[in-house]
Amino acid sequence: MNILKQDIQYIKGVGPKKAYLLKRLNINTVEDMIWYMPRDYEDRRNIKRIANLRPGEKATFYGIILGEGDVSKPRKNLSLIKFNVKDETGNIEVIFFNKTYLKKTLNSGQRVMINGEIKKGFKGLQVVNPIIEKVDMLDTDNRQGIVPIYSLTEGLSQNEIISIQKRILQIVNESIEEYLPEEIMNRCRLCNIKFALNNIHFPSNVQALKIAKYRLVFEEFLLLQLGLFKIKTGIVQDKKGIPLKNNNGIEAFIKKLPFKLTKAQEKVFNEISKDLERDTPMNRLVQGDVGSGKTIVAIAALLKSVINGYQGAFMAPTEILAEQHYVSLTELLEPLGIKVGLLVGSLSKGEKNKILNKVESGEINIIIGTHALIQEGVKFCNLALVITDEQHRFGVRQRAILASKGQNPHVLVMTATPIPRTLALILYGDLDISIIDHLPPGRKTIKTYSRTSNKRDDIYNFVKKQLDEGRQAYVVCPLVEESEAIEAKSATEIAHELSYDLLNGYKIGLLHGKMLAKEKEEIMGNFKTGNIEVLVSTTVIEVGVNVPNATIMVVENAERFGLAQLHQLRGRVGRGSYQSYCILINNSKSEISKERMDIMEKTTDGFVISEKDLKLRGPGEFFGTRQHGLPELKIANLFRHISVLKTAQKEIEKMTHADPDLTLNNYPLLRIKLEEKFLSVEEVL
Ligand code: ADP
Ligand code: MG
Repeated sequence: MNILKQDIQYIKGVGPKKAYLLKRLNINTVEDMIWYMPRDYEDRRNIKRIANLRPGEKATFYGIILGEGDVSKPRKNLSLIKFNVKDETGNIEVIFFNKTYLKKTLNSGQRVMINGEIKKGFKGLQVVNPIIEKVDMLDTDNRQGIVPIYSLTEGLSQNEIISIQKRILQIVNESIEEYLPEEIMNRCRLCNIKFALNNIHFPSNVQALKIAKYRLVFEEFLLLQLGLFKIKTGIVQDKKGIPLKNNNGIEAFIKKLPFKLTKAQEKVFNEISKDLERDTPMNRLVQGDVGSGKTIVAIAALLKSVINGYQGAFMAPTEILAEQHYVSLTELLEPLGIKVGLLVGSLSKGEKNKILNKVESGEINIIIGTHALIQEGVKFCNLALVITDEQHRFGVRQRAILASKGQNPHVLVMTATPIPRTLALILYGDLDISIIDHLPPGRKTIKTYSRTSNKRDDIYNFVKKQLDEGRQAYVVCPLVEESEAIEAKSATEIAHELSYDLLNGYKIGLLHGKMLAKEKEEIMGNFKTGNIEVLVSTTVIEVGVNVPNATIMVVENAERFGLAQLHQLRGRVGRGSYQSYCILINNSKSEISKERMDIMEKTTDGFVISEKDLKLRGPGEFFGTRQHGLPELKIANLFRHISVLKTAQKEIEKMTHADPDLTLNNYPLLRIKLEEKFLSVEEVL
């Protein structure tokens, strides 16, 4: 058995208890551990002896605590605790303010590491309120040189992770083989994998760390792009598609709509329409801000495929959204004699089978659904067009699976989360891009305000005013993670609180992801018809939900959300002709939170917001590659390391000269690595 795949529990010094804690960090195997990267490093090369400490310098030193902590209380609100710390060369007084509990934890004889500013006291040197860490006698060698700092979880200390990592490295050093092709390593001056792994965790010096990091970043990008190449070539490439040339009835359909298409919608539909007429499959991404009217463009495209005698499929990320699309499509298309179907996970087996049969026989022309559409049992009669809505919620692979249900169908993906062009090229590669660049006329700007939670009474009084005028409201609460320190009020609690107190007497409904689909549907239905006035929900309403009478949204703990997500959420209001409001309750005092709320107050342009979001949060979070169904990037950063990405891209181009399909036959180890990486993705999906 490959030692890298071994369960970490069986590694000497780990055992079930620590393995359980490591699992919380997503570390299950030896390999996961080795790829658990330090979040930072600390330079401890200059550890001082006490005799060499000088007043005014900030220094790190080791020592042993002599005797008990000495507590005094010079003033009412001030207590002091003093320790005497010594090493072989001298001693120093260590003082803490208001931390008398240290008396219990720091005993005489305890070895400690101290980092702080050295001062001249009455009796000699002293250090006040330093960083202090207990160290084991035997552990000192872990804490010298440039040391890694890992993210921790409760119950596991930095020292423990470091010792485990050291043991794992020993194992890996004995067994790992280089898998990158030699000529690439030579051309790009990459160090070998052993050097890279050893020095990324325990760098022998700054230069070695740089070299190690470069290699690992390069490798991640190379594998990511190889994998994407494989996925994409699975979808299209010089394939023969289905030309849809008949346009009879499209114009009439558009004329009959209750509104006139915007110029931007017309332009984008024309681009799509032209693509559909070609005999190579369309691959197009439509970007358009929330509320820009992407759905109607999708519907017109679906209509075109039906007019030409083919089926269309429309995939949405949530049941709520799929159902909403189902209602709109039925309303608009059934009068034309088109049969629309809905396939979602919550249907009973019997209902599902009925629908599946009708899709296979061709009786249903357009099928709308969630992930249920890409299940194995779904077979089409003659599928010519697949559309995925809110593509950022799906994986590249899911799009590919849906497309594989037809004979090279046309593919259209829609997203409200705009991403910079360089990234679009990586993620969507060979997709053409259309942008719906303005909103339908008559939309009022949503007024956005950020407030702290001590203003909650005022905020909900304002909500009441809106309700009394006949409008409806959303209250959004963050997802509740099962984690110790998170004090977010759950949606359930907030709904209770509001109904007993701040919004007493109003009809309040609750919606969250854990509810049964049927319950969700019912609640959503009641909100649409106005039977529910206030919908308290988690982010399940993030995408697509359309209730024009809802004019006010309160976001609790807004600091927990990403800007792009807040923008999506905010897009649920401002959908009708009334002035709409979004109130962000920000409970964080951090500067960055303030800055983010500021952006939300001042900007309503989704493109600007997501760009700022990227800058503030970094792409790791924003871009959550897992959401896209790609392997997580452990060390590479799509923005910071863009030049490495381009180098890797060039290397792949070179590889395709000799091996156009990138079979990697000459590089079996690389191929295995690639398969492993993308296989584990499949498990995630
Ligand atoms: P999104 O791009 O966020 O998916 P939708 O397609 O849900 O937006 O459209 C938002 C709302 O705008 C819907 O109520 C839709 O009927 C309406 N709408 C779409 N196009 C127009 C238009 N050209 N003029 C007026 N209203 C429109
Ligand atoms: Mg939409």
